[in-house]
Amino acid sequence: MDVYGLVGNPVGHSVSPPMHEAAYAELELDASYVAFEPAVEEVADALEGAETLGIAGLNVTIPFKQDVLEYLEADPLAERIGAVNTIDFRADGEPVGYNTDAIGITRSFEHHGVELDGRKAVVVGAGGAGRAAAFALSDAGCEVHIANRTVDKAIDLASQVPHASGGSLETLDSQLAEASVLLNATSVGMKSDETPVSGELLHGELTVLDAVYAPLETRLLRDAREAGADTVDGAWMLLFQGVEAFELWTGRDAPVDAMNRVLREELTH
Ligand code: NAP
Repeated sequence: MDVYGLVGNPVGHSVSPPMHEAAYAELELDASYVAFEPAVEEVADALEGAETLGIAGLNVTIPFKQDVLEYLEADPLAERIGAVNTIDFRADGEPVGYNTDAIGITRSFEHHGVELDGRKAVVVGAGGAGRAAAFALSDAGCEVHIANRTVDKAIDLASQVPHASGGSLETLDSQLAEASVLLNATSVGMKSDETPVSGELLHGELTVLDAVYAPLETRLLRDAREAGADTVDGAWMLLFQGVEAFELWTGRDAPVDAMNRVLREELTH
């Protein structure tokens, strides 16, 4: 049996185990997915132990996404983002770290028929998800503006991302008027009815992706729909980072519908 898993702290409410188990069941793979919660200072031991025990692949979540870079070869995209969320222990030689959050973002837009090349995108947030979003959208051909509460973080990130600018949340006003893609990568709206972007700045030319997935229908997405924009909820990003990890590990096309069905059941019950 192939063993995969998730390393984070805490991981108690993760939806990754049922989502990946659904894929194994659908394709009748002899595999299992387990959540591991090492102590924060023991991540290096955890990785070494995983390799020794023959674990095939790991997802990595908060607070380890940056720390694990120190102990791995990272692929160029993960290296630029500065975070790893998927480790393949079966690569030739050393384990390799990837950032499938970034790929999950572009695959979410692709799945919804949104062409990114040549478009102007606004990313709100400059933390882990904001970094992944800014690099992903820039690599996909967007001109990117990053707006963040802590302005220095937005400007610093913009200096690392090709075709990007950065500024405060006040810059949303002028930047959104010219944009056709908006991605919320802040935690605003997570388990609350707040939004990081005032409803009157939204318009019908936008496609809005909210990385927040609890609730699935955030206030931002509700406001966006009312403004005539297209919306993509955070479960799509979560789904496609998992789909990408599955495909990296197994070399097979992921059963996207089965994974999506279980993920949405988990997020709504
Ligand atoms: P993070 O690294 O802690 O970054 C948090 C971001 O939110 C920062 O830009 C922070 O701004 C901003 N922020 C927090 N509170 C704010 C407020 N009251 N007003 C304005 N901005 C605020 O977190 P992360 O890992 O990037 O995650 C961000 C969100 O994305 C979370 O809700 C997470 O669950 C979600 N996420 C979803 C997926 C998915 O697959 N759907 C994947 C990854 C993350 P400052 O820099 O000013 O503090």
